[in-house]
Amino acid sequence: MKNEKTQVTLSGALRSVFGFESFRPNQEEIVGNILAGRDVFGVMPTGGGKSLCYQLPAWLREGIAVVISPLIALMKDQVDAARENGIPAAFINSSMSQQEISAVCASLRGEKARLLYIAPERFAMPHFLLFLKGLPLSLFAIDEAHCISEWGHDFRPDYMVLSTITKEFPDIPVAAFTATATPKVQEDIIERLGLRSPFIVRASFNRPNLFYEVRQKTRVKPQVLEFLRERVGESGIIYRTTRDSVMEMAAFLTSHGIKALPYHAGLSAQERSSNQEAFSRDEAQVIVATIAFGMGIDKSNVRFVLHADLPKNIESYYQETGRAGRDGDPAHCILYFSRGDVPKIRYFIDAMPDAPERSLAIEKLNRVVEYAEHAVCRRKRLLNFFGEEYPAGNCKGCDICTGTIERKDITTDAQIAMSAISRTGQRFGAGHIADIVTGSDTKRIRELRHNEIKTFGAGKDKEKTEWRFLLNELVAQDMLVQEGHPYPVLKITPKGAEVLYGRKTATAIMRKTDKQKAGPESPSWHDEALFERLRILRKEIARTHNVPPYVIFSDKTLREMSGRMPETLQEMRRVSGVGDQKLLQYGDPFLSEIGKYLAENPGIRSAGHGDAGLADTNYKSPSKKKKGETAEETYALFRQGMSVEDIARHRKLSPATIAAHLEQLVRSGRDIDIARLVDRKKLDEITAVFRTSGQWGLNPVIEHFSGRVTYEEARIARAWLQRQR
Ligand code: ADP
Ligand code: MG
Repeated sequence: MKNEKTQVTLSGALRSVFGFESFRPNQEEIVGNILAGRDVFGVMPTGGGKSLCYQLPAWLREGIAVVISPLIALMKDQVDAARENGIPAAFINSSMSQQEISAVCASLRGEKARLLYIAPERFAMPHFLLFLKGLPLSLFAIDEAHCISEWGHDFRPDYMVLSTITKEFPDIPVAAFTATATPKVQEDIIERLGLRSPFIVRASFNRPNLFYEVRQKTRVKPQVLEFLRERVGESGIIYRTTRDSVMEMAAFLTSHGIKALPYHAGLSAQERSSNQEAFSRDEAQVIVATIAFGMGIDKSNVRFVLHADLPKNIESYYQETGRAGRDGDPAHCILYFSRGDVPKIRYFIDAMPDAPERSLAIEKLNRVVEYAEHAVCRRKRLLNFFGEEYPAGNCKGCDICTGTIERKDITTDAQIAMSAISRTGQRFGAGHIADIVTGSDTKRIRELRHNEIKTFGAGKDKEKTEWRFLLNELVAQDMLVQEGHPYPVLKITPKGAEVLYGRKTATAIMRKTDKQKAGPESPSWHDEALFERLRILRKEIARTHNVPPYVIFSDKTLREMSGRMPETLQEMRRVSGVGDQKLLQYGDPFLSEIGKYLAENPGIRSAGHGDAGLADTNYKSPSKKKKGETAEETYALFRQGMSVEDIARHRKLSPATIAAHLEQLVRSGRDIDIARLVDRKKLDEITAVFRTSGQWGLNPVIEHFSGRVTYEEARIARAWLQRQR
């Protein structure tokens, strides 16, 4: 498999079928091994590109590849996506009528399909097995393979029947994939499926494009709303623990003009699937959900995953955040954390009948709390949890490493608190200790004569809540332990004693007040207005084809198009994600939209400021001038005090072009007095329209002002607002 010819064919097929330039880590080896007829077991993170690992061999090998996937809601999208790439595909599941199933079976006998998606339970039907045996099969691909293991976190009895697969089909290679498997679960899966000395891949769990952050949870609904206000038009998932809180949050956001839909197991199947579909098709901006929502959400442009409540364990947190940024573009994962959430989960755990299970659940919960509370790189912590070392000292992709968090010396406060604990015999809880140090005059304090101890009132300068916070911090850092249930008392650990007796210092992490630097980097340069237009076009096409928009092109692909602005099919073909089939089907409509845009905005190509998108040698400028130069001229004139019209006249360019320059200049962070371009009142009103419309399209603004705001003003205002984020 290693000879050059195969290599060439593989990457050739990658380009022509999927339109991708290169393989992601491990994909090539997996494809090679499947093609050689070997069983494969692959653990790759969500968004790692597992589908391609079996779709490419399915395309290259003779016969039909059978894909077993547990989620019938998703099959149609997966089949649509494969078809859009020109791979003949079909699915059979229980949602179909007997007639529909017969039609698919007939087409399979005619070898029309290369890929067949089925749910595992179909495997338990003898007549179906018989039918499969009569087909020329190329391979079996088992998605979400961890469902076969009882040790995994998502065991499905349906999957058990797959343990006969290698006996029933001894000559067909089996490739099993999952995004979550500890080494123990991995062994279990391989054994249960009976894989025959498989080629094993354990990819890194690192998701470099995800930014991890923990924020102190106070009033979570307004906090989430504030975040969403900065993310107009971007898709995201908000996780909550209970159905009620899901409904409340969704209603709250809706009442503030955000298109949010709920999702939880208490809704009817019909409601759930229509909400999921609306989200998937970019008709709803956010979905507020319990953990019932999630496995196999293939939507590639989820830009943020917010946890408004504490997840139960790190596995779920990793899985849920994993749904962000599948397209590889930057995405943001925030956990809103309050210690107050811990007892709520403990309540459920304490109700578990099985003692070992209960203590395991507590153990897992503690790991999540540590994740939230400790000043350790979030990425390092997540990866360590899965047994992976993360070597870099600074991941540049979490709040700890980017320094939005700072360390503060808390030695003196820690000593005051611990001294109070020690002097009262380590027999009281956090509330009482906080009462002592703040000098509260309570009946209990007087009865116990705790107002007579030395540290009584020593911490009067701070609120009681701040002391509670400090005590939590000391617990989190193992300087104190809480013992006893349901009325835990605080005790000093040896580590705490070191601080109490002044042998060591203590520090805590605090969120810095300026939020400027937090968050993922923004994607590479592109023209936001063109991107918006291409998104609209994509949505129209998706609607007529009855598929989700991302199946046509991912956001990443559209962004690249709106940076490179291809004008010929050949140039279009170079955009990542444009394969032969998509070029054939959509090349023309997208080219013509780009062409129209360029015609309406002469000079726009040269307005951009070179970075990622422009550095590409294929990117050509129609003028002889170097990119950016012409915008620089506009900038200089603007700084001299000239108006847009003056500059246009002076430079013999259209006002639209000058406005486009200014837009790019604003976007790139130049010092531009926005008030000279859009007056303050209008700007406020435009801001409000963007907020309520929930997207960055200009039409709502233009319509709202019915002529009082020009297209140029709206565009510049938009660039300015986006820059403020
Ligand atoms: P997984 O099933 O592992 O979670 P998917 O198969 O859904 O991930 O792939 C995630 C995204 O990555 C998809 O949008 C897919 O088109 C894209 N992708 C996969 N392989 C590549 C590649 N080699 N180059 C660029 N994008 C890729
Ligand atoms: Mg997948």
